[in-house]
Amino acid sequence: MIRLYDSSHRSVVPLELGPVVSLYSCGITPYDAAHLGHAEVYLTFDVLQRRLRDLGHETRCVRNVTDVDDDILRKARTLGVHYLDLAAEEIARFDADMAALGLVPAWSEPRATSAIPDILTLVGQVLESGHAYQSGGAVYFDVTTFARFGSVSHFDEATMLALAAEHGGNPGDPNKRHPLDFVLWQPSLPDEPAWESRWGPGRPGWHIECSALALRELGQTVDIHGGGRDLVFPHHECETAQSEAVTGKPFVRYWLHVGLVGLEGTKMSKSLGNLVFVSDLLKAWEPAAVRLALLGHHYRGDWEWSDGDLVAAAARLERWRAAPVRPGSEAAAAVTDVVRDRVDDDLDTPGALAALDEAAASRQPIGDGAALLGVEV
Ligand SMILES: [Zn+2]
Repeated sequence: MIRLYDSSHRSVVPLELGPVVSLYSCGITPYDAAHLGHAEVYLTFDVLQRRLRDLGHETRCVRNVTDVDDDILRKARTLGVHYLDLAAEEIARFDADMAALGLVPAWSEPRATSAIPDILTLVGQVLESGHAYQSGGAVYFDVTTFARFGSVSHFDEATMLALAAEHGGNPGDPNKRHPLDFVLWQPSLPDEPAWESRWGPGRPGWHIECSALALRELGQTVDIHGGGRDLVFPHHECETAQSEAVTGKPFVRYWLHVGLVGLEGTKMSKSLGNLVFVSDLLKAWEPAAVRLALLGHHYRGDWEWSDGDLVAAAARLERWRAAPVRPGSEAAAAVTDVVRDRVDDDLDTPGALAALDEAAASRQPIGDGAALLGVEV
């Protein structure tokens, strides 16, 4: 059985799953190329899905595309292009990068702009449930009505306020009753896209999109949901509150959060401009080496990218390719079982790579074990 660190339970727990496993990994806002932080998140979900399929489960992984939000509208305004043209271009780049890295294709990749009717329905349901209110042309979730607010992140109020401010939550908005209340629907600025609604023309808040898409695509309870660790609050906390306010059911069974990738001592982020793009690495290195460089770090911790990781990964690939192939043999099965055991232990990919190194060094066939990690040798 797979054991995984559940960030809401704050411990490693065994995954108890049915034949069909639903997963939701928060997707990109398509306004810039995919960087290594993105790749690390989707690769983590990929390794998990490969093992679940190996165990005989069917996996359905939804990865949304946030094609309308503050970031993409700002970038489109700067470039002087239509935001959906910018989105189309960046989605194509992202899909090409992820395909090159050999990721299992998403079961569904819905776009926020495709879900406006679902979002409007859900906002109406949150209002009817008594957990939201209208103010200043917007609809806000009323956090004081939801006692479990904070149960995903376990942060105290001061931490939540600081993070909300950092992530565009605008705690000082005078239309709010409580500074942690968050927007479900908001009026658009004059040059922004707007959809008609019974609360006036506007556009969705950030969090409501993922709830609407998860509920539409996967039902009321998602088995495994997650993304980068910086999404725990406010994004996943808010998703949970608004979803459970309407359904009365647990929104997520297991939370999977991936550590952040840094560069030269700081977090890799758009605002700091210190991004390493997947597409740039793929110009100089083969995809399997990039994949191995990422798998060499455990998903849960934060870590620092260095070009040395790629040099080491390419050398590792070379050593593996020198090992005998012989798939289907008893020796190959033994190596694959060790890889399975490592993956089942909270996705210990560094341990799995070490096991493959050892097997390759002693001339054992490693092809099947490497394939379980999505690496063809
Ligand atoms: Zn999301």
